[in-house]
Amino acid sequence: MFDGDFTRRRMIAVGGGVAAAGLLVQGAAALGQSTGPAATGKPMPDGVDLPANPPATVQPGSVGFAIIGLGDYALKQIMPRFAQSGRAHIAAIVSGNPAKLKQVGDAYGVPESARYSYDSFAQIATNPAVEAVYIILPTGLHAEWAERAFAAGKHVLCEKPMALSGAECERMIAASQRANRKLMIAYRCHFEPYNMAAMALMEDDAVGALRLIRTEHSYRMGPTTPSENWRVSRALAGGGPLEDYGIYGLQAALYLSGEMPESISAATYRPANDPRFAEIFAHVSAQLRFPSGATAHVVTSYDSAGLNMVEARGTEGVLKMQPATNYGGNTLTLEAGRNRQELTPGDSEVQFARQLDHLASAIRDNTPIITPGEMGLRDLRLIEAIYASAASGQTVRLNPDATMRR
Ligand code: NAD
Repeated sequence: MFDGDFTRRRMIAVGGGVAAAGLLVQGAAALGQSTGPAATGKPMPDGVDLPANPPATVQPGSVGFAIIGLGDYALKQIMPRFAQSGRAHIAAIVSGNPAKLKQVGDAYGVPESARYSYDSFAQIATNPAVEAVYIILPTGLHAEWAERAFAAGKHVLCEKPMALSGAECERMIAASQRANRKLMIAYRCHFEPYNMAAMALMEDDAVGALRLIRTEHSYRMGPTTPSENWRVSRALAGGGPLEDYGIYGLQAALYLSGEMPESISAATYRPANDPRFAEIFAHVSAQLRFPSGATAHVVTSYDSAGLNMVEARGTEGVLKMQPATNYGGNTLTLEAGRNRQELTPGDSEVQFARQLDHLASAIRDNTPIITPGEMGLRDLRLIEAIYASAASGQTVRLNPDATMRR
């Protein structure tokens, strides 16, 4: 079992400055768990609707993507949304489960020569139809498979969180630079109309001077164990809910404030004798202080009644989103004095295709990526600072690039 005291002692021994996620993995190693998880085939998830007919012909100039990891998010959210993209199409798939590879490949019209196993992945280098790889694997596999994709000469779209530590993110950025290929993190809310409208309102000082941001991303996870579910495995999920779900609130705190925190204080909780939390935290609560004096309270839990909420309160009003960061059904309310406005800036569904088109444009037109690897690195550094603060019981002061001040 992972021991909070062990973490605290190690943290203090290294001055609280070592990457918390890296440290957590060291903790796992000390406990005899694997530190280098392998990609393996998994069964077809429940409730997947495969297309009855393969997608229509590819638009000229469209970018071919390989999808790696045919799990829940890939099959239910991402692969169906390629049909709404004008500039991206599925050119290849990668899975460790041959039956799933065939079933999904047939449904999406992927040629048999473009269906890869994890073992044959390197052959993708010789497939010119694939220009980008979309990594939708468990987080602990992102760094390794991004490096493999760059080694094969492909651009990379990587699911959030980018990786398990700042060090892994740095490796991925270096691999992208060596290969001279693009690296984008799939932070879909940057392409989602409600979150984009909230960003624009905050930029226009719609709530006056910002004082307080509150975010919560929580749900109650059913019974499970690390061997059954990668989301509760330290080697694949890091500390747990913060990397997986709370990262949306952390992101919102930054894109709504437009600031980087100068200090963080945080607390974590892990109940004893609960197999769900044998390796990860159940709750994480972090307080961020910005140079303007505004603060953000970022909360996430895998063990409380569900909430998906973002609120920004200023001297003149409050902006509320609940749900804030879902696939659909988000809301956005602006209250200032007696005025209450409910905004409906567009269909959230567009976020998925816009995200694909964004990388396609960066590849074709060399346009800048608004969610680059550097943003993923920034967020992992903040996550490390949150864990370092929680482990040491002390406020952690930050440099502008989110590294911890010694
Ligand atoms: P999932 O468990 O449903 O799918 C993961 C897939 O990865 C598996 O089906 C399997 O095909 C493959 N895999 C290879 N090696 C594996 C291993 N050792 N253990 C488990 N699976 C392995 O997970 P998911 O919900 O699809 O999440 C995958 C990624 O997508 C994660 O990075 C997650 O954070 C991200 N995600 C993002 C969003 C979003 O809204 N942006 C939503 C859900 C998930």
